[in-house]
Amino acid sequence: MKIESVTAHACRLPPASPWEDATNKVAGLELIIVELKTDTGLIGTGLSYTVDIGGTVIKALIDDYLAALVTGMDPLNYERLWLKMNRQSRRLGLGVNSMAIAAIDIAVWDLIGKHYGQPLYRLLGGTRDSIPAYISEINLSSTDRIDDLVHRAKDYHAQGYHAVKIKIGKDDFEEDIERIIRVQEVFGRNKRVLVDLNQKWTAAEAIQKGARLDALHLGWIEEPLLYQDIQGHAALKRAIKTPLALGESLYSREQILAYLQADAVDFIQADVAFVGGITEWQKIAHMGQAFGRLMAPHFMMELSLHLLCGIPNGFMLENVIGGSLTELGLLAKPITIKDGIGSPSQAPGHGIEFNWEAIRQHALTSESIRGSFQGGSK
Ligand SMILES: [Mg+2]
Repeated sequence: MKIESVTAHACRLPPASPWEDATNKVAGLELIIVELKTDTGLIGTGLSYTVDIGGTVIKALIDDYLAALVTGMDPLNYERLWLKMNRQSRRLGLGVNSMAIAAIDIAVWDLIGKHYGQPLYRLLGGTRDSIPAYISEINLSSTDRIDDLVHRAKDYHAQGYHAVKIKIGKDDFEEDIERIIRVQEVFGRNKRVLVDLNQKWTAAEAIQKGARLDALHLGWIEEPLLYQDIQGHAALKRAIKTPLALGESLYSREQILAYLQADAVDFIQADVAFVGGITEWQKIAHMGQAFGRLMAPHFMMELSLHLLCGIPNGFMLENVIGGSLTELGLLAKPITIKDGIGSPSQAPGHGIEFNWEAIRQHALTSESIRGSFQGGSK
């Protein structure tokens, strides 16, 4: 099998429900979708994404550089393709290149599945056929009242979810505590509620507040500190009992290894679109297993479903409200969570079928974004 052509599409659209956390207000989700056509007639699709910024850059890196590198290669040699793209683009640092590589790598794995007639999760080990999911809230806006949050929490619970993640990081910590307690009245205390700081606190601040959070028996505290602060996370982990979750702002196995070696993380949240795709994500998962850690990948619900069911150390699937490809209207066939459980498609490959008309309708180009972009970082 040989790759004959690489086509990249970019689109930008707002999340299906408003997203605001302690450090960001999101205006647009940018998706980069790649089609690999082969000489066998099989077509693989892959995707990557960014939050608000950089989608045109990722598409250009694929169109202008990576496409030429992989054309003519056999997608069954996924390591050969990944190494070639990684070596050629490593002078760009980490981030944009690993996000671009991810879109192609995911399409490569889709082709491998289609070639062998197997769903992706079985190629990755087939440890299980389903995985519990948690529902993930991104609404820390000043206009969102606690009663609104509780109302939504009751709805999620009625849908069958057993765990929920909420954003905290209000200027008044007592408000954070009240939000947690009120949601726990719906979901229960025993690790059913997870909290996410989106890197809001310093280590000293987090250690001071940690004792209050410990008393609430949370499932985890996510990204409490700046993503570069490995020592701070290690100090916090030593100081408190609640597990720490992070990884969505890390882009390689080496960056995650540094956290593991420093004993600075419990749950690893590597995002398949940020670390360079399935080839790299799988290595991170196996490395996590060697350190006795469980994987709880960030976002990308439709792919994370396969990843978590493939590997032996999968923990829980994240379903972000307003962020699934189905809610965004980008799929030809919906992929949803039922009764709080995610089950991967049995179709060969990843089973994600895009609605190309919707992707065209929301097309992102340099012309469409230049001059109109407004960032939402706080
Ligand atoms: Mg997060």
